[in-house]
Amino acid sequence: MADSAARAQAWCEACGAWREEDECPSCGQLLLDEEPPPIPWHFKFLVVATVLYLGWRAVQGILWLVGRL
Ligand SMILES: [Zn+2]
Repeated sequence: MADSAARAQAWCEACGAWREEDECPSCGQLLLDEEPPPIPWHFKFLVVATVLYLGWRAVQGILWLVGRL
């Protein structure tokens, strides 16, 4: 009981649903008791890099506008 309580729910990709059991009751597929993978660090890095790039481009655009005045 304590073991199953500590165990996280398993995700069945075939059914697209969370299952309490090690084996999906709907499709019978063996499930890994793993949480879905976290957001990869390189994705966060990409978002941060994109924000910094766009921010820099905005600064460049403002400087360009000021230079034309
Ligand atoms: Zn299933």
